[in-house]
Parts: sequence; structure tokens; C-alpha cells
Amino acid sequence: MPEQEPRSVVIIGAGPVGCALATLLRRQGLEVDVFERGAESAGTGSGHSFNLTLTSRGLDCLPASVKRRLYLQGSVLVKRIIHHRDGAISTQPYGATNAHHLLSIPRGVLQDILRDQSLRAGARIHYGLTCVDVDPGRPAALLRSTDGTTTWVAGDLLVACDGANSAVRGAIATDHPAELWVDRDTIPHGYAEITMDYGDADPTGMHLWPRDDHFLQSQPNRDQTFTTSLFKPLAGGARHRHFSELTSPEQVRAHCAAEFPDVFVRMAGVGKDLTTRGPGLLRIVNCGPYHHRRAILVGDAAHAVVPFFGQGINCSFEDVATLARLLEKFQFASSGDSGPVAETVAEEYSDARVAAGHALAELSLRNFEELSNHVNSRSFLARRALEARLHEQHPDLFTPLYQLVAFTNVPYDVAQRVHREASEVLDAACRGRDPRRDQDAIIEEFVRHHDRDLTPARRRAG
Ligand SMILES: Cc1cc2nc3c(=O)[nH]c(=O)nc-3n(C[C@H](O)[C@H](O)[C@H](O)COP(=O)(O)OP(=O)(O)OC[C@H]3O[C@@H](n4cnc5c(N)ncnc54)[C@H](O)[C@@H]3O)c2cc1C
Repeated sequence: MPEQEPRSVVIIGAGPVGCALATLLRRQGLEVDVFERGAESAGTGSGHSFNLTLTSRGLDCLPASVKRRLYLQGSVLVKRIIHHRDGAISTQPYGATNAHHLLSIPRGVLQDILRDQSLRAGARIHYGLTCVDVDPGRPAALLRSTDGTTTWVAGDLLVACDGANSAVRGAIATDHPAELWVDRDTIPHGYAEITMDYGDADPTGMHLWPRDDHFLQSQPNRDQTFTTSLFKPLAGGARHRHFSELTSPEQVRAHCAAEFPDVFVRMAGVGKDLTTRGPGLLRIVNCGPYHHRRAILVGDAAHAVVPFFGQGINCSFEDVATLARLLEKFQFASSGDSGPVAETVAEEYSDARVAAGHALAELSLRNFEELSNHVNSRSFLARRALEARLHEQHPDLFTPLYQLVAFTNVPYDVAQRVHREASEVLDAACRGRDPRRDQDAIIEEFVRHHDRDLTPARRRAG
């Protein structure tokens, strides 16, 4: 009998998600070709540089060897360090123990590690090729090279890892509008990097300056530099986009001196930083389902979320692990007729991931208020302290939302629902009581109500 050709997967986009997927698929013996529109030497993405925070949710989806390399290059952050308007500084741990931490890593470093791992695993990355159309049934992608010539490449499965503006998603939605809906939005806030000389600051936390409708965020790097970003409402049309009120270096300097007086002297170039390049846009893309025939959407191609929960890439790595698991479960690598298997895997993948992606979009948008405003508020902090104590005493009954989202693998939609239901019971227990003074009474009441009201709801959620 002739030996069967190895099953092949075409991946569009060699960003962090495409490379992570390529590594896992090579481990199953699949032939993997990744097509990337950028040049080999170029960075990927928008051109803005920022750090990504990984949490155990995303990290645990990657092979141990990749995780080890990321920990060698990233910074472990165990708390938020809040710089209040009056100059006071307070801290908030991310979870119940230091095991609950963020791993902050420059996007370019993460990208290099993941690309290197995929190449070592035997994936082929082809640069300078832009996907301009797809045929999801075959499945195949039409690629345009830098000299303008086009060519179709086909495989047994096509995976779009081409980011928020996915050409694959766009082509499917255009050709099959009844099969794939897409919702796109840009929020009124943008972001920009600021160069800040902050090397002597505490490197174990994420520094945050919450200022109502805007905030500054600074994350330590391993080389004692900090990556600092301003998130602020935008003004101006597409061509002349700038931050509201900040059109000249003088206005920028006056704004930063008033809003961030404790670090203003460390931002010598801020006037230039914020006026020579337009701020980056923050996009939300929701769509469904995450597949059509033998084409699958993974990472930002399926769900671009605003970065206020720091979970976009974590969710994307969960997509990657889910897809790899399903390909293994259905023995795609050794399937006789790959077509039906690929379609089954695509459907199951979509069923497993769509609700999670949509829930993360909502959670991420809502967390803007927490970063820019609530972390300053005494009532918010009292509620968080109450929740931490409740979790400490009854970890099986209540887990703070941040912890559920960042440090477990409970699907985002389930985490959202379970937390909403538990919060309603906690709200009721707080009624007429002061969360600062009456913690014991509130917790006692919560447990009574939880046993009575919430257990059936949790059973439903499970
Ligand atoms: C300001 C900001 C901060 C963020 N912070 C965090 C954070 O702290 N934690 C977190 O988890 N997430 C964060 N995110 C989200 C995270 O950056 C994304 O989830 C992640 O980059 C998605 O990776 P991706 O590989 O799917 O897409 P991308 O990173 O966009 O990569 C897509 C790749 O596809 C290529 N490509 C695009 N179109 C084509 C085409 N037509 N043909 C061929 N190739 C193509 C691109 O060149 C690129 O290489 C943040 C996002 C932003 C904007």
C-alpha cells in the first residue's frame, strides 16, 4: 500500500498565535506552512511597542520548554502599584498568593521566542506573502507576493492567525455573509508609548496612575527599563488623530505635569513621544462562528478585545490548545479522508470557543472602569478586601473575578456567569451593612444564602 502523505496545515499570519499553533501542530507530525505578509526582519503588528501580560491561563497552554524561555525573559508582577493623585501610593495583590502573578514580556521578545520554537519544531515560515482571498472548502489561500504576483496554496486545513483585521475572516464574511457574522468597533480611547526613565522603581508590580477618563501604566522589563503607555480618549479625524486636548508638545507637558507630577521629571521626551506619532487605536472584533468549512479563525482573527483585562493573548493561546487537542482527538494526522475530519474539528472548535471569546470582549471593556477609576475608590477597595477574605475562608464558594479570569482555566463565559450570580448574593448580604466593619456578618449571611440560593445555579453553570 502506498504510504499516506502527511496531513498539511496552512496558517496565515506568523504572529505569536500563528507561531504557537505551528509548534503544537508540528508535534503531532503535521506539515505546517505559515504565510506572513511582513518581512523576516520586521516586527509584527501595529508598530506600537508594548508589553503583553501572560497569566497561568495562557502560559499553561504552551509547551513547558516555551514557558521556561518566557520566564527567563519576562518580569513577574504580583501586584498593582497605584499612584494616587495626592501622591499617595497603595498596592493591590493580583491574587491570593504570589503564585497568582502576571508575566510581563515585551511583545517583540515573545514573538521572537515563539517564532524560534516553531522553526525548531520544523514549521516553515514564508515571509512577504499577503493572503488576499481564501477558498474554505478546498481549503486554500490566495497569496500576493511583494512583486504583485499571486498564487494559491492548499492544505488539508486552513487556519487564520492574521490578527484583528483578518483577511481570511473578511473573505469568508464577504463570500458567505449568511455563514459568518462580524461586528467591529473602535473605542473612543487610544494608546501611546512614553519613554520613562523609571529604573529605580519597584520591579515586582504593574505601576498604574488612574485618572478618571485616562490612565498611565508602566511595566518593568528584565533590563531595568520600563514600558510605559498612556491610555486616553482620542480626538481628531482619522488622518489627524491625537489625544484630546494634546495637540502640541507644550500641551502634552502641561497635562503630564498636572496629572502625573510624581514621575513627570522622568518623562523628558514626552512632548515628542505623544505628538510625533498618532496614538494607536483600540479595536473590538466579535464574530461567529469561528469557522467555515475547513477554515478556522484563531486568536485576534476571531476575537480582538481591548487590553484592559490583559487577556487577549491568553485567550488566543487557549484557542491554540483547544484546536490542537481536537486535532489529536479526531486523529487528523492519520485520517484517511481529511475533509470530513477537518470540518468536524472546525465545528467543535467553534462550539468550544465562541462563547468564551464573546465573554472576554465584555469583561475587557468593563475593566477599563476598574483601571481608570475604581482602583481609586474607597468603596471599591473595601469590596475587594471583603471578597479576598470571603475567598480565603470559603474558596469553594467564592473566587474574585480577576482570579477566576486570569489564574484558572474556567471558560471566560462560565467565570462571568458564576461570578455574576455569586456577586448578586454578596450584594444582598451587604445590604444595610458596612463592608469595612461588618465583614464577618456579611460572610456569614453570604454562606447562608449561597447554600440556599446559589448551589442550583452553580449546578446549572457546571
Ligand atoms: C495596546 C495593547 C496591549 C495589549 N496587552 C495585552 C496584554 O497585556 N495581555 C494579553 O493577553 N493581550 C494583550 N493584548 C492583545 C494581544 O496583543 C493580541 O491578543 C495578540 O497580539 C494576538 O496575536 P495574533 O497572533 O492573533 O495577532 P497579531 O499579533 O496581530 O499577529 C497577526 C500576524 O498576521 C500577519 N498578517 C496580518 N494580515 C495578514 C495577511 N493578510 N496575510 C499574511 N499575514 C498577515 C501580521 O503581520 C502578524 O504577523 C494587547 C493588545 C494591544 C493593542
